[in-house]
Amino acid sequence: MLDTSATPTTAADRTVAPTAAGTPAPAPLPVRPRTAVLGRGEVPWDFPVVTADDAGLGRGDGCFETLRVLGGPRGPRLLQLEAHLARFARSAAALDLPVPDPGLWLALVQPLLAEVGEGQEATLRMLLTRGTPTGGPTGVVTLREVPEVTRRAREDGISVVTLDRGVVPDAYTSAPWLLGGTKTLSYVLNMAALREAARRGADDVLFRTGDGEVLEGPTSTLVWSADGELLTTPTDRGGILAGTTLQAAFDGARAAGRRTAVRRTDVGELGRADGVWFLSSVRGAVEVTSIDAHRLFRDPATTRDLRSWIEA
Ligand code: PLP
Repeated sequence: MLDTSATPTTAADRTVAPTAAGTPAPAPLPVRPRTAVLGRGEVPWDFPVVTADDAGLGRGDGCFETLRVLGGPRGPRLLQLEAHLARFARSAAALDLPVPDPGLWLALVQPLLAEVGEGQEATLRMLLTRGTPTGGPTGVVTLREVPEVTRRAREDGISVVTLDRGVVPDAYTSAPWLLGGTKTLSYVLNMAALREAARRGADDVLFRTGDGEVLEGPTSTLVWSADGELLTTPTDRGGILAGTTLQAAFDGARAAGRRTAVRRTDVGELGRADGVWFLSSVRGAVEVTSIDAHRLFRDPATTRDLRSWIEA
């Protein structure tokens, strides 16, 4: 049941901890963008990788993964690589696309990683489209710099507005062709929601149902803490993507002796939480500082813990 007694207090009533998610990271060295194409190898970064009749271009028919690359003393690392490859395979299978061969994709990825030196980071994207009737599927890997807006979100946190997703969670189980929980290329609705957030003066979106159950962000998993426990929303009805970052964070939390749980919640409960975060591969864990202009408590110590579990 939803907690209807959970009326958030006003911003003025709240004691809000100062920003202390860690000392600001120094501006990283720029990373040169690079591109590689399955069956072809590396190409100039701005090479035209699809033809006009590619189903990925015309219909958003395909799937993708976005990973964070961290340069360290022992070379570059792809965070949560196994989980990303597993989800890529699940997405391809859900779309009746050939399941990506990890060996082939890693051979494509590996040379690009050389770009990421110690202290640097980058975004790596793997895209698989249905391609063309004659040429078959298209596979592309890109390596790009982490955008400035991402680094700012890590330091300052993000303001969030709730938006009705318009699809009830149970719809995904009775209509599997909605591809709930599949990371398809069709992010046009998610991007429209983010533009709506910007129009409302917020940084990001928390999707909710019509009756107030909260779900996830357009590109992030929701996490909150209450009484020392870390919580997230359930993916079992298919409308919420199973996050690789969440998996790493909760594995780390449990190993460190912290309790974790998965359950439904609403905005009222989040308003009283000890901390609220959005988790995703490239941003990592970012603090949600307000929901619908209601300021939230911040828990910088847990932010640091989440980041260390994610980056372990
Ligand atoms: N939920 C949605 C809808 C997403 O698009 C994403 C990532 O893009 C996530 C959650 C977080 O997933 P991950 O942690 O694997 O990046």
